[in-house]
Amino acid sequence: MFITKKRTYEQHHNENPSFYQYSAPINKHHKQIKENINTDICVVGGGLTGLSAALNLSNSGYTVTIIEANQIGSGASGRNGGQLGIGMRKDQFYLEKKFGNEKAKMFWFIGLEAVQEVIDIINNYKIDCAIKPGVLHVGNTKNDYKYFLKEIDHMQKYYDYNDFEYLDEKMIKEEIHSERYFSGLLLKDCYHLNPLKLTYGLMNACLEKGVKIYQNSPASKIIDNSNKISIKVNSYEIKTKKVIVCCNGYLDNLLGSVRSYFMPINNYIIATEPLGDEYAKKLIKRNVAVSDSRFMIDYFRFSEDYRLLFGGPETITANFVKDAKKFVLKRMLKVFPELNDVKIDFAWGGTLAISINRMPQFGTLMKNNLYYAHGYSGHGLAMSVMGGKLIAEKILEKNNKFDLFSSINHFKIPGGDLLRRPIYSTAIIYYRILDYISRL
Ligand SMILES: Cc1cc2nc3c(=O)[nH]c(=O)nc-3n(C[C@H](O)[C@H](O)[C@H](O)COP(=O)(O)OP(=O)(O)OC[C@H]3O[C@@H](n4cnc5c(N)ncnc54)[C@H](O)[C@@H]3O)c2cc1C
Repeated sequence: MFITKKRTYEQHHNENPSFYQYSAPINKHHKQIKENINTDICVVGGGLTGLSAALNLSNSGYTVTIIEANQIGSGASGRNGGQLGIGMRKDQFYLEKKFGNEKAKMFWFIGLEAVQEVIDIINNYKIDCAIKPGVLHVGNTKNDYKYFLKEIDHMQKYYDYNDFEYLDEKMIKEEIHSERYFSGLLLKDCYHLNPLKLTYGLMNACLEKGVKIYQNSPASKIIDNSNKISIKVNSYEIKTKKVIVCCNGYLDNLLGSVRSYFMPINNYIIATEPLGDEYAKKLIKRNVAVSDSRFMIDYFRFSEDYRLLFGGPETITANFVKDAKKFVLKRMLKVFPELNDVKIDFAWGGTLAISINRMPQFGTLMKNNLYYAHGYSGHGLAMSVMGGKLIAEKILEKNNKFDLFSSINHFKIPGGDLLRRPIYSTAIIYYRILDYISRL
């Protein structure tokens, strides 16, 4: 008997629409591969990394083709929490210790540049994606304030960075209408937005620049022939000089053992019915996005039509949980018990790629003719756009910022295909226990 494992991107087939799919304009671009194709550069994966790489290469004289297994934005890019954060997933203390002060500074500035890059794209292409300023980190424990104050001090002293606002216990309770939090750190130059609208905006910009986009066109194999790379898509073949693989948590075995360097983890979001702007202000005074200080974070914000979008923690199985709504609702009601009678209109999940050190994974294969970028570890809204740009700049030989990331040593998760999932699951349970203990 053969057991055929579903590809990760297939888990989104036949699912109910997310709030983002409901709120974004319909994607009218339905082209699918129906013939063999020749192109200079083929991008595999139509999320923000792939679109950004294509957009940045579109004016370079190369012909650029994107192939997407489902629809553009049907991966994490069109289903995430919408928090556009600066920096990397890990703080500067960690980066300095691990990579030294000089490299830590480079990562910090690339993180700032990443947010600016998204803002520039939104402005240049006039993308209406409901962008709002402010991301607030909230302290779940009484001691978190010490970390916030230490971070403010460090960032002022060594990075000349001042765009923080500290909130003590009284202030955080005025800001967020919940008993859960004891302190807060507002990052004033972070933002929140509707990520699917942003992704469609990038898709339209690519189409305008002549990038060819094919949906429902999954790459099943990438073969290095001596003078060209051949990509199999259904019964067709794409011949290309260079290929950029941007499949992130949905990569599976397309690049062989590359997938053993990150954990594909599922995370879920629910959207309430619209609560109105007055009530929204009562719950989150300044309409900022919020994320908490635990390992398995809660993150939430209001949508453009004032629904509370609440994201919950990762699950331990490879498949999506059957009842994401129940799973996340429990967490939402711990933060806002007063929402007990509110209707939940949407629940959905997505897969992200988490690396052990939480740094993005960039690399090349096939004699530098294949590039990949993934593993943003839940901090990829800005960094995926940047990842695509850095790949393009590497191909165009503009700078070597790509190499800063590709030179990072990543830990390979042991155990082969059979044991890797139990290892991820154990890691998730371990972090859940740490979160539980920290509140005792
Ligand atoms: C629930 C959730 C919440 C998140 N919240 C935040 C947040 O608030 N802030 C933040 O910074 N980050 C967040 N992230 C992370 C962020 O969304 C990702 O880091 C980012 O979107 C990655 O973009 P990407 O283009 O690399 O990957 P994706 O958007 O996942 O795109 C990969 C694409 O590749 C396609 N694909 C896969 N296999 C193939 C194939 N064989 N052939 C062709 N196409 C293929 C997939 O269908 C998919 O469309 C969140 C992620 C999730 C899942």
